[in-house]
This record gives sequence, C-alpha cells and structure tokens, in this order.
Amino acid sequence: MGSITIRRLTKVYPGGVRALDALDLDVAMGEFFALLGPSGCGKTTLLRTIAGLEAATGGTIRLGDEDVTRLQPGRRDVGMVFQDYALFPHMTVMDNIAYPLRVRRQSRAVRYGRAAEAVRELGLGGLERRRPGELSGGQQQRVALARAVVADPRVLLLDEPLSNLDARLRLEARTFLKRFQHRLAFTSVFVTHDQAEALALADRIAVMEAGQIRQIGTPAEVFRRPANLFVASFIGSTPMNLLPGTVRGGAVAACGTVLPVPEEARGLVPDGQEVVCGVRPEYMEFSTEPVDGAFGGRVSVVENLGASSLVTLDVDGETVRVVVGEGVEVQLSAEGWASPRPGRVLLYRDGELVTGD
Ligand code: ATP
Repeated sequence: MGSITIRRLTKVYPGGVRALDALDLDVAMGEFFALLGPSGCGKTTLLRTIAGLEAATGGTIRLGDEDVTRLQPGRRDVGMVFQDYALFPHMTVMDNIAYPLRVRRQSRAVRYGRAAEAVRELGLGGLERRRPGELSGGQQQRVALARAVVADPRVLLLDEPLSNLDARLRLEARTFLKRFQHRLAFTSVFVTHDQAEALALADRIAVMEAGQIRQIGTPAEVFRRPANLFVASFIGSTPMNLLPGTVRGGAVAACGTVLPVPEEARGLVPDGQEVVCGVRPEYMEFSTEPVDGAFGGRVSVVENLGASSLVTLDVDGETVRVVVGEGVEVQLSAEGWASPRPGRVLLYRDGELVTGD
C-alpha cells in the first residue's frame, strides 16, 4: 500500500479544455478518499490520470516513493473499478478476477489461489463459474472490486462505484464497500458526484470545481465549516442558507435581524463590510413566536422529510430554510421565526470563510 502525492498536476485535453489546473493533493496510506464535485469539474480526469489512462500535461504523481507520472498504466500497480465495471463478458467470475494475475504471468496455482481468496473476501462463493451476464448489479460490482484488488495494488481507484445500482442496493453496497475498505486498509480514491455518498464513505473529501480543489477535509469539516461559498452551496442535502448582511458595531445586520459576529471572525471584519451569513437548515430552531436574533417571515412551503419537515420562510425577499422536528405544527402562510443555534453561523467575505485559524 502506498500514499499518493500529487503536485501541480495539469491536464489540458486536445482542443484546449483545462480539466486539471495545477492541482495539489496528498492521500495518506490506508485512507479512503473521495473526489466530489459537479459534472465536468475534472474528477474522472484526475482518477484516470492517477491510473495512467490519461497522460498528464504537467506536474507529478507519486505513488509511495515512486514518481509514476510517465509510467504506463500496467506498470503503476493500481487497481481500478470502472463505473460500468468493464468485466469481460465471455469469462467466468473466476477468470475475470484472476485476469490481472494472468497479465502479470503468475502461475496457475497462484492465480486461482489468490482469486479464490478474493472470492471468499467478497462473498462471491458459489458464483465462480457464472459469467457477468448471469449476475446481479451488486454481484458484478463485487467481482469488479475483487479483480481490482487481487494483485494487491498500491492504490485502489473507483470511478462512481455505486452509480449503476438501484437505490436500495446502493445503500447495501455502500456499507459493504466501507467495511471492506476499512478491513483491508487499501489506499483508495473514489469519484462521486453524490455528496451523501462522499460524506457517508470517505475518511476525507476533496471538493473540486473547474479543475481545482476548493476544500479538503473530513466529512464533518466540509459539512460544518465549508471554506468558501462554492463548497457551502454544494455540500448538504438541503443547501445552506446564505444570507447577505453588513457588519455594524461588532454585529451583523442581515435580513431584518441582528446576529453577533461569530467568535472566530471577531476583529477580522471592518464596519460597513458586506458579508454573507451561512447557516444550515439543520442548525436552526423554528418558533411561531418572535425571538431575538431570529429571521422572521412567512411560511411559504412545508416539505415532509419523514421524521422532520423542511420549512421555507420568505424573509425580507430572501428564502430561509429550517428543519423542524416531529410534533411541531407548521401552518402555511403563518408567521414564523428561525433562530440559528449558538456558534452555528459562518461568515463569508468575498466568498471565503472568515476565520482566524
Ligand atoms: P462527470 O461527473 O460528468 O463525469 P467529471 O468531474 O468527472 O464529470 P471530467 O470527465 O474529468 O469531469 O471532465 C472534465 C472536463 O474535461 C470537462 O469539461 C470535459 O468536457 C472535458 N473532457 C473530459 N474528457 C475529455 C476528452 N477526452 N477530450 C476533451 N475534453 C474532455
């Protein structure tokens, strides 16, 4: 197993699309790392460049101690699971799994011994003689995973590994993948555009935009403290409330209310400065009575989330969303107040989080 060290990696496709733009990234040994971002931000290009399936235009990639930037894919010692699994349709499960060992000219005994181990590891016992067409999506995914790890690669790369599965199977496969990765401690990088998947699976996440990384952190860090407005608006199943305000006399006036400047931003923002207040719908309390420091407005939408509701308030021409727990009756068109919980407001200036850290 190895770490991954990427420096100033650039990929310009013929035609001039700059898919990766002087990107730096460090993935630690044994880490389960997610590349997350909107369509076209360069996630797949980054994964394929690490694998050697795309040539870098500039910069370096090291796996462990070795600079692999100019190595052929077959010499990089990387296991890859493709989005569509790319299994060989005419080969049995066993032959599919053993294939990377055949390419490496291992003996038959080694090939089938190791493949049998991978079959056991991935719970594929009894399916050895089937062909991919005779397997469910979840089973195919596990065969692809077995094939990717059978030769004990330095790193495991997964391109949208769960996207071909239906919703229920996806959750099962997600739990399986996480358990599998933690048990074997492969250094793994997976691509996803699904932030819930990244938050659930990864030890750390890189959020990408336009060929660059906008934030790297644990799921908790990128969820609780997005470093900029791009990450703030991208992460979270219900987007963060981002409300314009102005700093005045050590407080922030925003949408008809006054909030204290967050502790981490005190003394860092001059009076008169325009800012954006960020607060997640999950981190607010709803009340039908006026509350100091709350955003007051009219309830325009109530959406049922199962165990809670998402209430939309029209506040001074802005929209404020708040998650309301079970047992609170919220009437459409009624007045309502949403107060941020202490310490849960983030301040952004020129798009970046204001913090003394
Ligand atoms: P998605 O989530 O849609 O797969 P992505 O984040 O994986 O997107 P990439 O597939 O890496 O994004 O693409 C990054 C940029 O490079 C996009 O603008 C894309 O159109 C462009 N691109 C990708 N592959 C090629 C190619 N072979 N030739 C030219 N441009 C390409």
